[in-house]
Amino acid sequence: MTELTKEERLAALREARVVLVSACLVGQHCRYDGKSKRSERVRQALEGKEVVPMCPEAAAGMGIPRPPVELSGGTGEAVLAGQARVVVVGTSEDRTAQMRRGAEMALKAAQRFGATVAVLKERSPSCGTLGTHVDGVVVPGRGVAAALLHSAGITVLSDEDL
Ligand code: SF4
Repeated sequence: MTELTKEERLAALREARVVLVSACLVGQHCRYDGKSKRSERVRQALEGKEVVPMCPEAAAGMGIPRPPVELSGGTGEAVLAGQARVVVVGTSEDRTAQMRRGAEMALKAAQRFGATVAVLKERSPSCGTLGTHVDGVVVPGRGVAAALLHSAGITVLSDEDL
């Protein structure tokens, strides 16, 4: 999957009829802390489109609220390749299987509803598209769900692209 410029990603969003979106960005209280990240910019960008809200971590049964997680050893692509894992922040408690399951559920939802574009919450270990938390710092790269969606040919945008 080629890397698109920000302008190309925004053009794909303008043309899309169905868009997958991180559920926290459209007001669902699904974050690890039980809060939402409702975004007016996202709401405006999705006006007139069919919207598929999706929280990979909640869908995988990780709970709301839940302990925050981060990637360890690499970004989302490395997790999917079995070369990195997901742990509860500050511990060695492994959440890799749940995060992979959540990513697969996000992809299934996108495919079922015909979403060609996903607007995702920046810096999340699942949804980050420009940067994500790895070993205590934000590094360039995608979270686990964003990596799987991207690899399947879905254009992933950050809420910060808008
Ligand atoms: Fe939002 Fe994604 Fe985190 Fe769910 S996993 S709370 S949709 S950023």
